[in-house]
Amino acid sequence: MKIAFIGLGNMGGGMAANLAKAGHEVSAFDLSEDALARAKENGCATFTNVREAVAGAEAVVTMLPNGGIVKSVLTSDVIGHAPAGALLIDCSTIDVATAREMIETATAAGYEMVDAPVSGGIAAANGGNLTFMVGGTDSAVAKAETVLEPMAKAVIRAGGAGAGQVAKMCNNMLLAAHMVGTCEAMKLAERNGLDPQTFYDISSKSTGYCWSLNDYTPVPNVGAASPADNDYAGGFAVALMLKDLRLAMAAADASDAKVPLGRKATEIYEEADKAGLGGKDFGSIFTTL
Ligand code: NAD
Repeated sequence: MKIAFIGLGNMGGGMAANLAKAGHEVSAFDLSEDALARAKENGCATFTNVREAVAGAEAVVTMLPNGGIVKSVLTSDVIGHAPAGALLIDCSTIDVATAREMIETATAAGYEMVDAPVSGGIAAANGGNLTFMVGGTDSAVAKAETVLEPMAKAVIRAGGAGAGQVAKMCNNMLLAAHMVGTCEAMKLAERNGLDPQTFYDISSKSTGYCWSLNDYTPVPNVGAASPADNDYAGGFAVALMLKDLRLAMAAADASDAKVPLGRKATEIYEEADKAGLGGKDFGSIFTTL
């Protein structure tokens, strides 16, 4: 297929490379020259603007920082410029309202579109192991599966327009809360004289088990290997978790949902960001307790 890929950053760079590796003809664009050079090395054709990249595309994938940028790129340079009938797939993590608005606008202009945010970080993007949560019509989701497959461990239909973004923000709010809980429990154990590794051995096989404890232990050299073992470098940045939590809090306000733990987790990640941990892995909350 001829696939245009817009946004070749930490995530999009590897994703576009995997599409090219799978034999698709990838037309790539990013504002960054470095990102474009890397895409070229990875087998993509590169362009100097979005309109040229989407010309002749059967599918357009966007992987951009936020909803404002996604809206501006789609409405200015994709919708009305990509061929009629092209499938639009937004993989960025953005607010539900903008995701739904974009699908409505694209549909009115004659395009099929899905929201398809991802779970899994940069390693999963590079390795073609992302989980996609996809919102849209049955027909659009079925077509999107073919495009997403070379980048995916799993492609899961979440529901109608925007449902992928709902799944993503709820998943990450849950992740934020159990990471904070894990850090607190590990710290409390330590303060009360229990060896952290012993606590890990017990709780990871007891009812306290969860992904943050069992598979991503946020304490250096305890339990599972994680960015904690490397001074919290790499992994999933505090700033990105905060972005996702803010999306969840805005959606909670708009839908009158009560999310006291999510709200508290947002405050905790805001404090960590202010304290200079924005670029560190989100398990670094452990160091703030
Ligand atoms: P990033 O900042 O590394 O990449 C974004 C890219 O978009 C940059 O290369 C930037 O130059 C480009 N860009 C910005 N405005 C543009 C425009 N107008 N036209 C073309 N290109 C433009 O971000 P990332 O880590 O790759 O994240 C991308 C999306 O994926 C975000 O929505 C993020 O929340 C989500 N996400 C990230 C991770 C992660 O671990 N990094 C995990 C899951 C989801």
